[in-house]
Amino acid sequence: MSNSQRTQVGIVGAGPAGLVLSHLLYLQGIESVVVETRSREYVEERVRAGVLEQGTVDLLAEMGVGERMKKEGLVHHGIELRFAGRGHRIDFHDLTGGKGITIYAQQEVLKDLNEARIATGGQVNFEVEDVSVHDIEGPQPRISYRRGGTSYELHCDFIAGCDGFHGICRPAIPASAITDYDRSYPFGWLGILAEAPPSSDELVYTHHHRGFALLSMRTPQITRLYLQCKPDEDAELWSDDRIWQELHTRTATKGWKLIEGRILQKSVTGMRSFVAEPMRYGRLFLAGDAAHIVPPTGAKGLNLAVADVWRLARALSEFYAKGKHDLLDDYSRACLRRVWKAQRFSWWMTSMLHRSPEDNRFDERRQLAELDYVTTSRAAAQTLAENYVGLLLE
Ligand SMILES: Cc1cc2nc3c(=O)[nH]c(=O)nc-3n(C[C@H](O)[C@H](O)[C@H](O)COP(=O)(O)OP(=O)(O)OC[C@H]3O[C@@H](n4cnc5c(N)ncnc54)[C@H](O)[C@@H]3O)c2cc1C
Repeated sequence: MSNSQRTQVGIVGAGPAGLVLSHLLYLQGIESVVVETRSREYVEERVRAGVLEQGTVDLLAEMGVGERMKKEGLVHHGIELRFAGRGHRIDFHDLTGGKGITIYAQQEVLKDLNEARIATGGQVNFEVEDVSVHDIEGPQPRISYRRGGTSYELHCDFIAGCDGFHGICRPAIPASAITDYDRSYPFGWLGILAEAPPSSDELVYTHHHRGFALLSMRTPQITRLYLQCKPDEDAELWSDDRIWQELHTRTATKGWKLIEGRILQKSVTGMRSFVAEPMRYGRLFLAGDAAHIVPPTGAKGLNLAVADVWRLARALSEFYAKGKHDLLDDYSRACLRRVWKAQRFSWWMTSMLHRSPEDNRFDERRQLAELDYVTTSRAAAQTLAENYVGLLLE
């Protein structure tokens, strides 16, 4: 026997997509239940994204979950592109009419969202097992799961698949109804979290013949650093000394010094571009990494997840308020327009800055010419800036 529950929208996954959706629906008077396989602590400690677009920041603030972000987030109005040993600033403020990005870690966004959901009586069920979705083609889909040895059936009007790239929602769609577009890159990122103040006020994207390096930060005391490596690199082969030495080599420039500190965490992430189309099947709507993955060079993953669920919440709100399903019917098409532009931008940043084993000396010269163009032509710099701060949510 299983326990039966009912809600309007069943949400699989308590990452940024699932939690933002659940809170947006609450604000519009729509009930939801979130099921998540991991513990709340795990979700709130997982180190991932950190760059928030202007539109994401504005939305979180409008939702009433932006107070700590406004206080602790670091607002940046530019980035540096460093190549051939010299740095060149891309001035977002000037190029986009005053826009910027905010550095505020994904796990902090999730803490704020969890707090808001709990304070407003939201149902987020962590540490559930055996999640599966059923009857997604018809008007009464359901989610089944187990928690603490008890089985549950969650009956809903709609299901939001916000369960990331390795979740169960996308595979629940018949293969004949979905098309995958996929590209893997022959390199990955060694991501490092270090107890050291940032060496630069803004993010530094470095092109070097030994491979790409990125200097980022999380707080005024904690830096986030990335080194291009093999996609299947063993992070344990990177001693702290080796990490700092390689960062020094790749980022060196005159009159600037890399600040070292204790390494708190290191891990390797592969690089991939992936889109599944369409993002809807019957009453199941995919959002965020469940439907698409971008290489992190353009800092778009979390922001795309937020843009998807902003659109889904608007469509569901129109459905419940007016009985209209035009926006639900248009959900996949409208999301994919933004997704493909973000894919293009992320691919372009990645291919401009990384050394690929397939590249030869011609490609290195071509990359340097591209970087030279981007940092000397206002039109080219504006294109980068406009995409980096994020296209309008419309
Ligand atoms: C190293 C790294 C750096 C990144 N840097 C950036 C950046 O700077 N800027 C940026 O915008 N993005 C960045 N990203 C990408 C960003 O973190 C993701 O795009 C974002 O987390 C997507 O959110 P999501 O909610 O769609 O998916 P997720 O965050 O993956 O959340 C999905 C949730 O679903 C849960 N789940 C999975 N399966 C099930 C199941 N069967 N049942 C129930 N729950 C399930 C998972 O445990 C997870 O909590 C980075 C990613 C990585 C790995």
